Amino acid sequence: MTELSPIALGFLGSLAAGSLTAIGAVPVLFGRVPSRATRDMALGFAAGVMLAASFFSLIIPALDAAEPMFENGAMPAAIVCISILLGMGAVALMNERLPHEHFKTGREGPEAASLRRVWLFIIAITIHNFPEGLAVGVGFGADGLSGGLPLAIGIGLQNAPEGLAVAVSLLGEGYPRARAWGIAALTGLVEPVGGLLGAGIITLSQPLLPWGLAFAAGAMLYVISHEIIPETHRSGHQNRATLGLAIGLVLMLFLDVWLG
Ligand SMILES: [Zn+2]
Repeated sequence: MTELSPIALGFLGSLAAGSLTAIGAVPVLFGRVPSRATRDMALGFAAGVMLAASFFSLIIPALDAAEPMFENGAMPAAIVCISILLGMGAVALMNERLPHEHFKTGREGPEAASLRRVWLFIIAITIHNFPEGLAVGVGFGADGLSGGLPLAIGIGLQNAPEGLAVAVSLLGEGYPRARAWGIAALTGLVEPVGGLLGAGIITLSQPLLPWGLAFAAGAMLYVISHEIIPETHRSGHQNRATLGLAIGLVLMLFLDVWLG
């Protein structure tokens, strides 16, 4: 393992994490779908992992990376704050722009509205998988195995319920099982692309590290607030969703301290 370059580690780590999206969606292939309450709890878990990962594995390392670069104490914080807002803004913009033209034509009425909501959710999952891959890649690129491993495990774990959620929502729209699974699997394949890029950029340019880490955190925070938490609360399972979030949050925190 130690003979692998940080870039190879970043790619393999993010590929492994991304593959858990497809694995999480497997129950759909057999038509065995867990209850909505269970799925909402699992998705809440994903939100908790992402929340902790954005702070402990991205924002704090971003501050640590920025601090030695500046004399002025406010600069590192300013850079990280700006990058977080840029990351959030980038996903907000993509959410606004991408689906509209695409889904306004086509079906009409309430059916179209629910199909559109499902695809918005899928696009949000796909978009945020990119910064997740980026984060894993950056972790390996910046700090080798100990920097990337907690992120790869945490991100991988929260990908499974995300993959399941995507596949189940497509199933609900009448997609055949294999198609629903295939689309869910595809959303996870964005992750190694981000991983390769993240590890590559960080290996080439250390000064970009704080920007990249905080940008990835911002993108994840936007998706947590705008897509994942609302989705887990839509069917009245707030308590279970919050329990899932709490478990995900402390698990990721623990992984980060223990392995990082
Ligand atoms: Zn996620």
